[in-house]
Amino acid sequence: MIRAITENFKSMTNKYLSKRSLNAVWHPCTQMKHHEKSPLISIAKGEGVWLYDFDNKRYLDAISSWWANLFGHANPHINAAIYDQLNKLEHVMLAGLTHEPVVELSERLSKLAPSNLGHCFYASDGASAIEIALKMSFHYWLNTDRPKKNGFITLQRSYHGETLGALSITDIRLFKGIYTPLLYRSKQIDTPDWRNAEKGESPQDYALRVADKLERYLEKSHAKTAALIVEPLVQCAAGMGMYHPDYLKLVRGICDKYEVHLIADEIAVGFGRTGTLFACEQANITPDFLCLAKGLSGGYLPLSVVMTTDNVYQAFYHDKITRGFLHSHTHSGNALACRAALATLDIFEWDKTIAKNRIKARYLNQLTQSLISHSKIRNFRNCGMIWAFEVETKDPAFAEKFFQTAMKQGLLLRPLGNTVYFMPPYVINDQEMHFLIEGTIKTLNSC
Ligand SMILES: *Cc1c(COP(=O)(O)O)cnc(C)c1O
Repeated sequence: MIRAITENFKSMTNKYLSKRSLNAVWHPCTQMKHHEKSPLISIAKGEGVWLYDFDNKRYLDAISSWWANLFGHANPHINAAIYDQLNKLEHVMLAGLTHEPVVELSERLSKLAPSNLGHCFYASDGASAIEIALKMSFHYWLNTDRPKKNGFITLQRSYHGETLGALSITDIRLFKGIYTPLLYRSKQIDTPDWRNAEKGESPQDYALRVADKLERYLEKSHAKTAALIVEPLVQCAAGMGMYHPDYLKLVRGICDKYEVHLIADEIAVGFGRTGTLFACEQANITPDFLCLAKGLSGGYLPLSVVMTTDNVYQAFYHDKITRGFLHSHTHSGNALACRAALATLDIFEWDKTIAKNRIKARYLNQLTQSLISHSKIRNFRNCGMIWAFEVETKDPAFAEKFFQTAMKQGLLLRPLGNTVYFMPPYVINDQEMHFLIEGTIKTLNSC
């Protein structure tokens, strides 16, 4: 069977596979009819920051395959860990049973994450982690005799995933609008994203002003509010909206004062993206729930986790079954995915990734000087290993055109509206950074 697939792939061409895919695969986040004119790019293999198609043309994966890949494609250490695990145990259910990779991963995450997050609950994707945090927060207040605390507050332009619960607390019209009749209500408050600051107002002053608005809302509504959920430091799907860490410090204080949980969605920003292992570290805060996914397994396998405090855990710990958290996913804590995650954490430790990334970011920032001075560019910004800017354009098809043009240059970039961003795998080297910036400028000039 393996032979059959390999043989088949040898004679595969980009166009042929794209055609079969368009017939049989319903692709995510895609109007399929738009592919009548543009075929899919068929990827045969990956290595480091590069993806190769069936004509052996290569593309620099400058967005880490939807913000997930950390240490490159086909990373030898992660591959070896998965092979090893495959020969021991591929999967076992996590109710009534346990296994070494899930125990070790939970212990290591608890040591690395902000303090007191000692309990790990697993799922497979980011949206499911969000569902878990929402249900746990609501259930906590129920178990502590505050059943009216069942509302959720989110930031404007927030993104937390696409299942119905996660979509309810998402604020991006393109994804949410149509499904509104199916969703529960949530409260959106002003985002600290500094692109919304008044002229002359610093990001820090702006963060202060919007945090104050949150406080005024909670003064009135804390008795019906279970939790505030935020994407710490960078609202990625909103177009890499960045904000001052003081906002997190302030909202942590406000949530404590009004007895409201703080849920940190670090699904995209966790694992070094913002320059520290977790974004919350930059504000020196511990959320009540920390949601992780995407880079958790190095971007290899579907794995997500919600980490929470002993205080939350104890509210469920009881003789009565219904006071427990009876949520489950079939592949909760999958052994292969946990091994990939452990291998990912090894690399952080052995390679001193966080310190090395600082040097890489400094180098890339030097190269971007030529971009910053480009006449089409606004709001150039950087946080850790994320770079973004807006492009002046009136073309509604800008994002698609930019993507197509960049692919011709061998660069995978997928703008969000008119926001172009870089989120490269951490293994990117100097030469590849040059390639990224030069390709971006060429693309800008012909778009
Ligand atoms: C991607 C993402 C999610 C959803 O994760 P999935 O694995 O795609 O379900 C949730 N929150 C944030 C901030 C994300 O970037």
